Order: sequence, then structure tokens, then C-alpha cells
Amino acid sequence: MTETEKEQRRYALAISGGVCEVCGRPLRDGQPQGAHRIGNTQTNRAKYGDFVIDHRFNIGMTCSLKCNGALDISRDIGAVIRLCARIYAAEAQKYEVKK
Ligand SMILES: [Zn+2]
Repeated sequence: MTETEKEQRRYALAISGGVCEVCGRPLRDGQPQGAHRIGNTQTNRAKYGDFVIDHRFNIGMTCSLKCNGALDISRDIGAVIRLCARIYAAEAQKYEVKK
């Protein structure tokens, strides 16, 4: 696991409250897995960049492969754009110029 992947996982676990983001089942009852909202595919990486695909906001915690699939928003272009906007807004704050 890379440092980025570890950070994603820590963040996803921290905000999940220990339950699956899709069905609400406690993660320990299933097979906990980090799920990409914008799918982790070469096409999506070329389109949106590693910056977006690997961002902590793009990962959610789910209890199973089925719920993992349900988190995918790749085909919902409006949702994808809103998520990208959130990611860019959060990252831009780190570089805000103090006046
Ligand atoms: Zn679930």
C-alpha cells in the first residue's frame, strides 16, 4: 500500500463511522473495502487525472463487492463534476493567498 492509499483508507474509515456507506451494515460484518466513486480505470485516470481518482473524497468504505459497485458514479456526469468541484475547492484552500 502506498502512502496515498493509506491516507485514503484512514480518511474513508474515519468518516464511515464503521458502517457501509451504501447499505449501513457494520463493516466488520462484511468484507470491508475502499470503493472508488469515479471508477479506478485507465480511461478515468486519463480523463480526470490521478489527482482526482486517488483523492480521499473519491473513496468510500463499503461492506462488500456489491456495495462497492453501487458507489460508482462514473456514468453520472453531473455527480462526477460535482465531486471534482468539491475536490478542487478543498485542495485550492491549501494554496489560498492571505491578503
Ligand atoms: Zn454495504
